[in-house]
Amino acid sequence: MVDKTILVTGGAGYVGSHACKALAQAGYVPVTYDNLFRGHRELVKWGPLEVGDICDPARLKDVIARHKPVATMHFAAMALVGESVSQPDVYHRVNVEGTSTLLAIMRGAGVDKIVVSGTCAVYGMPKTTPITEDTPIAPISPYGETKLGMERRVSAADVSSVVLRYFNAAGADPDAETGEWHEPETHLIPNVLNAATKGETLRLFGDDYPTPDGTCIRDYIHVCDIAAAHVAALAYMDKAPGAHVFNLGTGTGNSVREVIETARRVTGKDIRAVVEKRREGDPAVLVANSSRVQSALGWTPRRSLEDQVRDAWRWTQKNG
Ligand code: UDP
Repeated sequence: MVDKTILVTGGAGYVGSHACKALAQAGYVPVTYDNLFRGHRELVKWGPLEVGDICDPARLKDVIARHKPVATMHFAAMALVGESVSQPDVYHRVNVEGTSTLLAIMRGAGVDKIVVSGTCAVYGMPKTTPITEDTPIAPISPYGETKLGMERRVSAADVSSVVLRYFNAAGADPDAETGEWHEPETHLIPNVLNAATKGETLRLFGDDYPTPDGTCIRDYIHVCDIAAAHVAALAYMDKAPGAHVFNLGTGTGNSVREVIETARRVTGKDIRAVVEKRREGDPAVLVANSSRVQSALGWTPRRSLEDQVRDAWRWTQKNG
């Protein structure tokens, strides 16, 4: 057993809660720090919950002093692109200033390692695919800008860090102990599965993209593969101190129509979709080149799109 405490900010959220389970299975004690604004108390199952805000230095200081974590995993952030356009100041305060607050308190307490939830949104509308870490950075929304700001504060800080820029997180814990629970829900796979359970019609945003079937292509990656990469990143910082940034995807792209077909197969349900106009800011293709993270962390994605849809379906059926 490792028996070391990790502070998990945003541990009551989607990726954060899966990371907590993966940490516990690897012998760590995950202490969730979450303000429960969009996180859920019910998803904190693998360690204590400390309710607190990432922008509250006194509370953070108290929690770190009591639990004495050896490292932090940082998921606490605002993550809705549309909302970031209408509330850019809130996104800056939480995503950028909140990260600075966390780093300052960590340093004051001698915590010198952090794994950070990053995003491919920092690449904006890339001109080439697949996307490597050398693809130009050009976010097109306040969300992408503030996640880039978060990365920069982390890389400039006097700590070791691994930022994982993930592509499309999807799926759920195979035991259905945690899963995707967003309010509002904007993501494709849960919306497809809601269409399957509730008989609603999926709104398909655009079928006139320059792709084989005209719908957008994304690199969907199972949330448990993402969680495993976070755990591997902790050990990596011991042998490779300093600041690291990696893409995290599978390298395989699937179109919106392929996702719908996979969901029809997995659920056995008829899923209706109606084509609407393009959603603003959606690039045609986003697929990761993740060779750097694979060779650095010795991590590899193990679960297919079918696994993602099947596990998300189990979670939806349990909670729908
Ligand atoms: N999408 C869709 N209908 C939905 C939600 C998403 O057609 O209800 C499309 C969206 O336009 C994009 C893809 O599905 O091409 C993935 O979108 P999602 O919001 O899941 O992730 P994003 O790539 O925006 O981070």
